[in-house]
Amino acid sequence: VLSCVDVRKTFGDHVVLDDLTLSVDEHEVVALIGASGSGKSTLLRCVNLLTGIDDGTIHLDGEEITDPRADPDRVRQRIGLVFQSYNLFPHMTVLDNITLAPVRVHRRPVAEARAQAMQWLERVGLADRAGAYPDRLSGGQQQRVAIVRALVNNPRLLLLDEVTSALDPELVGEVLTMIRDLKGEGMTMVLATHEMGFAKQVADRVAFLDAGRVLEQGPPEQVLGDPVEARTRQFLARII
Ligand code: ATP
Ligand code: MG
Repeated sequence: VLSCVDVRKTFGDHVVLDDLTLSVDEHEVVALIGASGSGKSTLLRCVNLLTGIDDGTIHLDGEEITDPRADPDRVRQRIGLVFQSYNLFPHMTVLDNITLAPVRVHRRPVAEARAQAMQWLERVGLADRAGAYPDRLSGGQQQRVAIVRALVNNPRLLLLDEVTSALDPELVGEVLTMIRDLKGEGMTMVLATHEMGFAKQVADRVAFLDAGRVLEQGPPEQVLGDPVEARTRQFLARII
């Protein structure tokens, strides 16, 4: 589904992604781990074309999305991105938050967008909150709405950046359950996380980022339990 080859991203003279190569297969869930500043969020932002890259290529379903002629809106319709802070619009209902982009940006008919949004809300058990404003929802519910907002275009790929780290511990579970359900439905996902337990539970593959490169990747048990690289071992020793 996704193929990043030799992706280079710099801010000034700071190299943030250093010829990073990573591919993700259909239905696969890949967890990005690594120290703060290793480039996890930057990689997700580059894949979603929120920021340009300096060199290399990113392909989605065989199409080069980093080609200057690619239409970013069309690409983002096929790649959902959810951040740590859910960024729901406070003055809009749950349903309006979800349908805003499909209707305004992607010019989908309102009735169709609403029907699809309601279907997703039902699937995640939030249909009764459709008319509520975000401040009437728990943090976990708000984050689930933010994930639904990213799903409503039926993306090929879902990118999740630390989606549980802003939540109170007792609200993390409901978001994890939703992500596990999506995995069960075959959604292809890339998630950046500091929670190794989460990576172990949902990921098919863990990629350890170090200074803007994938230093090591493999099954969670291997990378988290018996890493090959000394730097991976150091990282894991520091966070546990
Ligand atoms: P964390 O685990 O803390 O979320 P991360 O792995 O997601 O870290 P990034 O947010 O991708 O790391 O940041 C990688 C590096 O890029 C950092 O050194 C950061 O300061 C730098 N960086 C990110 N965005 C910008 C920007 N817009 N301008 C300048 N530097 C940036
Ligand atoms: Mg980050």
